[in-house]
Amino acid sequence: MLNLTGKNALVTGIANNRSIAWGIAQQLHKAGANLGITYLPDERGKMEKKVAELVEPLNPSLFVPCNVQDDEQVKSTFEAVQNQWGRLDILIHCLAFANREDLTGGFSQTSRSGFKTALEISTYSLVQLSGAAKPLMTEGGSIITLTYLGGVRAIPNYNVMGVAKAGLEASVRYLAAELGPDNIRVNAISAGPIRTLASSAVGGILDMIHHVEEVAPLRRTVTQQEVGNTAAFLSSDLASGITGQVLYVDAGYEIMGM
Ligand code: NAD
Repeated sequence: MLNLTGKNALVTGIANNRSIAWGIAQQLHKAGANLGITYLPDERGKMEKKVAELVEPLNPSLFVPCNVQDDEQVKSTFEAVQNQWGRLDILIHCLAFANREDLTGGFSQTSRSGFKTALEISTYSLVQLSGAAKPLMTEGGSIITLTYLGGVRAIPNYNVMGVAKAGLEASVRYLAAELGPDNIRVNAISAGPIRTLASSAVGGILDMIHHVEEVAPLRRTVTQQEVGNTAAFLSSDLASGITGQVLYVDAGYEIMGM
């Protein structure tokens, strides 16, 4: 049975009730995990308030700001984990960012700064957070990130984020190879398209969702809850033999030749 009682799980990437990370946090909570939630702070504290209200029913025992572009915030996030929990078991990396102008039109027009921003936030952050998590995963652990088919196929308008996801999937393999001897597993979930704040920045996302609904074997796209269930499975001992993988949770779309 899927049971995460006694496991400490740090979840990044909740912005609102459409966030995939919100679906994951709910399923981890349902399975009994003790939750820590990070949020992306803004100057007015609006995000903190919004996310705090949303996650309150899940009783997180840790609630900390963590902008992955700020080394000090990353450091203090893991210090808080060390001080309050002493040990980390599960890390959910569920964040990405690219400038809106780089998610439409010609990929060859991507600016140097746009490319750097997308890869720093969306790709390097997995390496950074995994490195910080490693010494705290003293009894082994599970690190999970979120990717998309655009990392292996050229999907219209996904552009620089496709390159970021390709790098993310390669990072999963390198991290899995390094951390495996410490019984730390690293996997990615490749989710089908879901309407969220981040996906709304990708040009033509609604057309993509409709296309998946017509073509995918299950004739629909997936929900945050389905991705959350898979994350709970990968976090659990039921997945103890799985590492370095990209698991498609996309209603089967990836297998189709159209
Ligand atoms: P979302 O907008 O709800 O989540 C993106 C999160 O990234 C937000 O919580 C935001 O605060 C966070 N973030 C952005 N910049 C950050 C920074 N500098 N530091 C810390 N956090 C930062 O959208 P989502 O669709 O739930 O995205 C979550 C993950 O799922 C992303 O990696 C995305 O690429 C991936 N994904 C999404 C879809 C989809 O269709 N929605 C499909 C496959 C994969």
